Amino acid sequence: MEQGDPRRVTPTLVSAPMGSDTLTVTWADGAETAIPNALLRGYCPCAGCQGHSGDIRWIPGGNAALDTIEEVGSYALSFTFGDGHGSGIYTFRYLRSLGELSAALAADPSRRGQTLSRSLT
Ligand SMILES: [Zn+2]
Repeated sequence: MEQGDPRRVTPTLVSAPMGSDTLTVTWADGAETAIPNALLRGYCPCAGCQGHSGDIRWIPGGNAALDTIEEVGSYALSFTFGDGHGSGIYTFRYLRSLGELSAALAADPSRRGQTLSRSLT
């Protein structure tokens, strides 16, 4: 599978069952990624969380419970969290990157707090 394959960044199923603490995304290339809500919230890409420049950092705090999920155009999702925060636009490309980061963190917890390139958002 090539990095540029559009199926890598095309979700076919987004699942966040009530009471679950993880967002599961199935992608058109067959991959499935599981992103803990806390990871989604900590890497919220909005300007309020991340400012306007520099890498995307892990921002601790906030209520990570997922209240709503909405599609933005046909390129992104937005989430409203338990404390009402909901200004982040998560492009499909960025979500895929968070899914991969989630898997990397599970395999190697020392990568916790790693930054992500803003170009992924
Ligand atoms: Zn934010």
